[in-house]
Amino acid sequence: MDYFGSRRQRLQTALGNQLDALAISNPVNVTYLTGFSGDSSWLLLLPKRAILVSDGRYTVQIAEECPGLETVIRLPQKNIYQAVAETVNGLGVRNVGFEGWHISTAELQTLKDLTKTVNWTPQEKLVEKLRMVKDESELAQLRQAVWIAEKAYGMFRAFFQNHDSEKFLSDAMEGYVRRAGGTCTSFPTIVAVGDRSALPHAPPTNRTVPEAGFLLLDWGARGEFYHSDLTRMLALKSGAKKVESQLEKIYTVVLQAQERAIAAVRPGAKARDVDAAARGFITENGYGPNFNHGLGHGLGLQIHEGPNIRSSSDDVLEAGMVFTIEPGVYLPGWGGVRIEDDVLVTPDGYEVLTSVPKTFDSIFV
Ligand code: ZN
Ligand code: ZN
Repeated sequence: MDYFGSRRQRLQTALGNQLDALAISNPVNVTYLTGFSGDSSWLLLLPKRAILVSDGRYTVQIAEECPGLETVIRLPQKNIYQAVAETVNGLGVRNVGFEGWHISTAELQTLKDLTKTVNWTPQEKLVEKLRMVKDESELAQLRQAVWIAEKAYGMFRAFFQNHDSEKFLSDAMEGYVRRAGGTCTSFPTIVAVGDRSALPHAPPTNRTVPEAGFLLLDWGARGEFYHSDLTRMLALKSGAKKVESQLEKIYTVVLQAQERAIAAVRPGAKARDVDAAARGFITENGYGPNFNHGLGHGLGLQIHEGPNIRSSSDDVLEAGMVFTIEPGVYLPGWGGVRIEDDVLVTPDGYEVLTSVPKTFDSIFV
């Protein structure tokens, strides 16, 4: 199955009659449409042609990663804009779309100056919209990224020592993910001890776990290209006694909120309603103002992509979408609880791709 070819075909269909060509400059989108993993290269998509404009550093890599793809290799004395402009002029196209969210006004002006007969029209995230619904090959790679992250989590718990610091544990996770077969972690691992867990994106410090007895761990793995993203709480069997009742109370609210949101996932559901399922429950329990971020985000070639699972989102769920569900309650000065899993929308509901335990009893190490 030529997944890249069929992705390009879906986009070519979406081009319609208004555009003669579409210029893709965002390297993530180029990867999605071709399998090419380098950068500084543009893909020109015409109704029946796809041309990758690249440079000599990538000639061999392109032959390996996208055999058969039509390629223009620019000479070293030419920059990418000159090479794209020459190719566009040579094709004789008039109406060319470009990724308005990705190229700067200076880059656009450069292109316009070099292509006097072309109308350049900004497009609204066409490729990003396609990327929201994953095909079989993407799902396999997402499952692999989850598998790696969970394997790494097993090592994290096995090697965990009571006196470890946030920074030590965060650094160690990088090694576990790589040992489990990952390219790297999806993002710098968040290890936040005690009241630092009230910062949803706390950078790691030298604080050690016994100082509070519990921590928030937010990590993920990048497989070859695709990312996973999980959050679990951990608490010391010995050291969390003084916070245990508060921790259990908040943990139970967050877990139930997450389960309600997951149960609301199905094709046709509005992303904002999935957010509301968790947010409503947290609000009923008195912690509404303490859940200060959206419920989740799409996952794929990037760690944050569509769909947006938040109260302001207009996204409607479709089978094949993959996103996180990660409610949290944060009490400044005490700490925070977040639980995050990765969920796939299936034709008749959902499948939770992540499987590491999350009962309250399971958090003790
Ligand atoms: Zn996360
Ligand atoms: Zn996340």
